[in-house]
This record gives sequence, C-alpha cells and structure tokens, in this order.
Amino acid sequence: EADLPLLRIDAVVKKFGGFRAVDRVSLDIRAGEFFALLGPSGCGKTTLLRMIAGFETPDEGRILLDGMDIAQVLPHQRPVNMMFQNYALFPHLSVRDNIAFGLKRAGMPRAAIDARVAEMVALVKLEGLEKRKPDQLSGGQKQRVALARSLARRPQILLLDEPLAALDRKLRESTQLELMELQRRLGMTFIIVTHDQEEAMTVASRIGVMDHGRLEQVAAPRELYEAPNSRWIAEFVGDVNLFEGQVASNEGNRLAISTRDAGTITVAGPRRPVTKTNVSVAIRPEKVKLSRRGPVPDAVNAQAINRLEGIVTDVGYLGGFTTYKVRLDTGAVLRSSMANTARIDIDAYGPSQRVVAWFTPDDC
Ligand code: ADP
Ligand code: MG
Repeated sequence: EADLPLLRIDAVVKKFGGFRAVDRVSLDIRAGEFFALLGPSGCGKTTLLRMIAGFETPDEGRILLDGMDIAQVLPHQRPVNMMFQNYALFPHLSVRDNIAFGLKRAGMPRAAIDARVAEMVALVKLEGLEKRKPDQLSGGQKQRVALARSLARRPQILLLDEPLAALDRKLRESTQLELMELQRRLGMTFIIVTHDQEEAMTVASRIGVMDHGRLEQVAAPRELYEAPNSRWIAEFVGDVNLFEGQVASNEGNRLAISTRDAGTITVAGPRRPVTKTNVSVAIRPEKVKLSRRGPVPDAVNAQAINRLEGIVTDVGYLGGFTTYKVRLDTGAVLRSSMANTARIDIDAYGPSQRVVAWFTPDDC
C-alpha cells in the first residue's frame, strides 16, 4: 500500500511489575520523517524506543515495520539502530574500532569495514581522531562517535535517546542543526527522544508528547504550540497564562468566559467545539501586549479586544525580547513578552508602571 507507514506502533503496553511505563501507545511514523518524542523524565520515552529497537518486549500490542510484525526479530537483525543517552562507547576501543564494532559483528569483510568507517568519520567530521580512545575526546566528539557508530550499518530507522543532553547550550544548538542536515542528506528516518521542547520543535517535523506512559498529542510543532489539546500540554510546551472560568455565552465561534482573575475574556475560534462549562483560557505571553493607554485604535477587531489593567512588578531583559510580570487589579499575575525591536521598548514599562495589557480573542 502506498500510504503504509514505515513504522506502526499499535496499542503497545509495557509493564514493570504492576506499573505501566508505556500505556497503550499507538503511533505511525512515515519513511524519511524526523520525529520527536517529547515528555518529562520518567514518562516512558526510553522504554518506547527500547521496544522499537528490540531490547524490550511489549506486554500488549504490536510493532510493525513495513506492515510486518517484528516481535520475533532480534535487535541486531532489525533495520533499526539506537544511539544511547550516555553514548555507551567502549572505553578500551579506539574511535575507529568503536565505529567498526557492529560491522565486524555482522561479518563485514575488512576492506569494506575500512571504507565504511572512513565514510562515517567524514560524515560526522572526526577526521584525524580515529586512533583516540573515548577518554581522549571532548563531549561533543564522543557524541559524534556514538552517532557514527549508530549510523554505520545504515539502519532504516535511527533512534536517538536524548543525544544532545550532555552538551552545553551552544554546542547543542549547532549539533541540532547538523543532525537535521544529516537526516535530510541521508533521507533516513530519525526518532529523537528529548525532554526539551525547544529541541523537539527545532529538529522535528512532528512531535509526540508523552506523559505517564501515554501519548497525549501528536502534531507539528506549530499546531502543538498554538492548539495544544490539553491544559497540561499548553503548560508543558512553552510558557502560558491560564485563567480558570465558566462559559458565560457560547456562540460557537465566539465564547465569553467569565473568570475570577481576569474578568470576562472573549475567545474566538476554538479548534474544537467547547461543550464543558468549566474551562481554562490560555494566552501565550508573546500575545499579551502592554501599553500605557490601551490598545492602539486601529488594532483589528477593536471592540472585542480583551483589556486588563495592572502594575508591572518584574522586568526580565533577555536580549531579543523582554519579559514582564503584571499584577492585575484582581491580584492575579499576567505574563507578557515583547520583542525589543526598538530601543525605546526596553525601558518603556519599568516596575510599578501602570499599564493596560491587551490581547485579541484570536490570541486565546
Ligand atoms: P523516560 O525515558 O521518559 O525518562 P523511561 O522509559 O526510562 O522514562 O522510564 C519510564 C518509567 O519506567 C520510569 O518510571 C522508570 O522508573 C520505569 N522503568 C524503566 N525501566 C525499568 C525497568 N527495567 N524496571 C523497572 N522500572 C523501569
Ligand atoms: Mg529516558
């Protein structure tokens, strides 16, 4: 079938004792995709990867590769390779021998191994370091050796378990870009595990969010951020202001939500019909604009703009943008973040400045 996914995870459960580490996860991965599994520590990400790799056996459900159940296929016979979180390099082996390890075990002839190792060394830019042992390498170099080793057998699917967690921020960001480049160039399917939402959004075209063993949402980065399907995801992926309230009027595409902390908030175009009475309104900080006098007159849809008044209590200058905390007259705190596009923005709203915070119904 043309639309058969490369990998199908079908209602997979993994229990440790009575504890469900992976709880009925179903997920399709397409060939050539860069997919990220995102979730807090302990939510079951590694366990799910280990089942795909064949190091753990599902208690329920099936894992299909190209439509075939791979339950009986041993790990080293699967066209899948896993790069482990701690790299798991062999300390007594050189860079070359670490990369060659799986090739040797698979019985590849020596000349072919030499050629493949040279290719992998060039691919991850480790030329000149072939004879070194892992303890003579930097963190970033070890990461490259582990990557080269996991790519050496040219798997169809590469599983990367928190591959960049041990790197410092700058190196992590440049390595993210290199991984994306590599994945595109090789046309291979990558599944990366991370607890870092920015990393997931940077590298992946789709993200699966896990919590307590369950897959809570699968979406492109933008959809996940702009249309999270639960309050928990809205909070986990990025910063958000949340107000609890009741639906006061519901005209389908326009809702009035009566909140204790922010008065009545008008919300437009919810992605799913709202059928409950008790709801949370979520507004991303960058959608909240501050102004001394209120929204600019020509702002779209001026009548329905939500306006909240309060006092700036905290200002955090972060270079490209500044974050503000505003204590509303109700006592609740609203967070705003605004780009520092002009010099004047930086000092415009200092502490104890009285401001109007505003956002449109579409921004909720
Ligand atoms: P993550 O990678 O998302 O941090 P893991 O998949 O490693 O999470 O673990 C999920 C849960 O399963 C955790 O609570 C962990 O303690 C538990 N767990 C993982 N492996 C085992 C094991 N071999 N035996 C018992 N519990 C385990
Ligand atoms: Mg893990």
